[in-house]
Amino acid sequence: MIDPREPAAEPRDGARPAQPQPGLWVVATPIGHLGDLSPRAREILERADIVLCEDTRVTGRMLERLGIRRPLESYHEHNAPRVRPRILARLKEGASVALVSDAGTPGISDPGYRLVREAREAGIPVRAVPGPSAVIAALSVAGLPTDRFLFAGFLPARRTARRRVLEELGAVRATLVFYEAPHRIGETLRDVLEVLGDREAAIARELTKLHEEVRTGRVSELLARIEAEGPPKGEMVLLVGPPGERERPSEEDVAAALDEALASLSVRDAAAEIARRFGISRREAYRLALERARARKG
Ligand code: SAM
Repeated sequence: MIDPREPAAEPRDGARPAQPQPGLWVVATPIGHLGDLSPRAREILERADIVLCEDTRVTGRMLERLGIRRPLESYHEHNAPRVRPRILARLKEGASVALVSDAGTPGISDPGYRLVREAREAGIPVRAVPGPSAVIAALSVAGLPTDRFLFAGFLPARRTARRRVLEELGAVRATLVFYEAPHRIGETLRDVLEVLGDREAAIARELTKLHEEVRTGRVSELLARIEAEGPPKGEMVLLVGPPGERERPSEEDVAAALDEALASLSVRDAAAEIARRFGISRREAYRLALERARARKG
C-alpha cells in the first residue's frame, strides 16, 4: 500500500501526450514510497488507453496523488475469467493496456500471469516496465545470501499444509523468501524453526515507508522477540537463509548426538531434537534417526 505521508505530485493538466505502442504493458508501481514510480512507468500510465488494476479505489488513489488521470478497469482473481476475453479483444484491436497491481510488480503473488500468457499466445506484444517488488527489495537489504534464492510467495494458512511446504523446501540450498501477514508471522516462525532448523533469517517490513525496519538474527531470536513483544505491524517479507555449508555438522557429530538422544527419546523426538540443534531439516533428521536406531538394535 502507498504511504499516505508521502507528498503527492502536482496534478498535470494539458493535452494528452502521444499514446504508447499498442500491446500489454506490465507496469511496476511503488510498494510504499511514491518516488519509486519510474519516469517510464509514469509515461505509460499517463498515456495508456486503459489502466487495468486489482482495485480501482487503491490504484485510483495512487494515480490521483501522482497527478495521473486515466480510465481504470478492475482485473482481479474473481473477475479475471470474465474480464480477460474483453481485454484481449481490445488488445487485438490495437489498444495499449497498462497492467498494474495494488503495489509492486504485477504477477508476483498478484494477478497477471494468465493475462500475460494469453496475450503472448494471441501474438500481442507484452512489455515489461520494471520497478519495485517487495521480494527483491527485501533481499537487497536483508544481508542474507542472494546468489540463489527461492521465492515461495505466501505459505498456506493451515498448519499441516504449511509444514508440508516447508518440508519440501528443506533441502533447497538457497535463501527462501516468503510474503507473510503480521497475525501469522509468529506461528510461521515456529514452524520454520521446527521444520527447517534454527537458520539465519530476516523480517523486512514496511519497506520504503516511514516505519521501514529489517530485523535479523536466528529464527529462534526473531521468534523470541515476537513472543515477548507481540507481532510487528505492517507489510512484511520473511527471509530464511540457506542451510549453509559452514554450519553443516559432521556425520560423526550428528551420529553421536543421535545416539545420546535415542537413549532416552523416541525416534521421532530424537529427530526433532537434532533437527533443532543442528539446523537440518526434520525429514533428513528423521531418516538419520531411523538409520541410527536400526544400527543400535542390530
Ligand atoms: N506484487 C507485489 C510485489 O511485487 O511486491 C506483492 C503483492 S503481495 C499480494 C503483497 C505482500 O507483499 C504483502 O503481504 C507483504 O508480504 C509484501 N509487501 C508488499 N509491500 C511491502 C513493503 N512495503 N514492505 C514489506 N513487504 C511488503
